[in-house]
Amino acid sequence: LHEKLVIQEKMRAIGQLSAGIAHEIRNPLTSIKTFVELLPIKYDNPSFREAIKEHVPSEINRLNQIIEDLLDYSRPKAPKKELCIVKEWLNSIFILFEPTLRKENIDFSINVDEELTIYADKQQLKQVLVNMILNAIDAMKEQEIKRLKISAFPNEKFTTIQIEDTGRGMTKQEIEKCYDPFFTTKPTGVGLGMTISLKLVKENGGDIEMESLYGKGTTIQIILPRSIEKEGES
Ligand code: ADP
Ligand code: MG
Repeated sequence: LHEKLVIQEKMRAIGQLSAGIAHEIRNPLTSIKTFVELLPIKYDNPSFREAIKEHVPSEINRLNQIIEDLLDYSRPKAPKKELCIVKEWLNSIFILFEPTLRKENIDFSINVDEELTIYADKQQLKQVLVNMILNAIDAMKEQEIKRLKISAFPNEKFTTIQIEDTGRGMTKQEIEKCYDPFFTTKPTGVGLGMTISLKLVKENGGDIEMESLYGKGTTIQIILPRSIEKEGES
């Protein structure tokens, strides 16, 4: 009986996922199809040609991004864990965002002790951090106060990396749904970032915790094993 339930649950998850994928792929396809159908009729119209140039490549990019994200999600890649100094690792990620943060007028700080470590797959965790920072930047677009604070602190066996933003925050319902595949509140969002992040963090022996106040901001904690000896103890 238990096995039957597990299979039922899996089928349900696959059904949900397929419905999401179908929806995500259909939107850009419909828009591309419309342009293609109009092409013979409106070819001489310069503003139509401009519109094609603007929308068709970006819709195709979007389809590609969805496929990339799905592959990331389904490709079983065992984490290559290594001891990593949090401050160095965070600084190397921060460099990527410096221009955007400046452009968006976001007040930014990193506060991490020199000797703090995590034992995890750097590349996988970078993907998680990048998604979290992008989400924070997106959430602050319309806010008056724009502050992004990254800090990290140790406890017994784990290191917590904390990302605090003063963005739009999330409603209770959004908090519940944000890890669901394809859940997004953004017009051009894909909604796989949180799903993939949680999966990667768990595969690295960690967890994600979140606190969010609608209209005020969001705090995300990424909790990871501190060192190889601490890993697996609980
Ligand atoms: P996407 O970024 O493509 O929308 P994600 O899986 O990364 O997909 O995020 C899912 C949703 O969770 C977002 O659309 C947003 O509603 C919510 N969310 C995630 N992070 C934040 C944040 N820092 N502040 C506010 N909302 C957030
Ligand atoms: Mg995202």
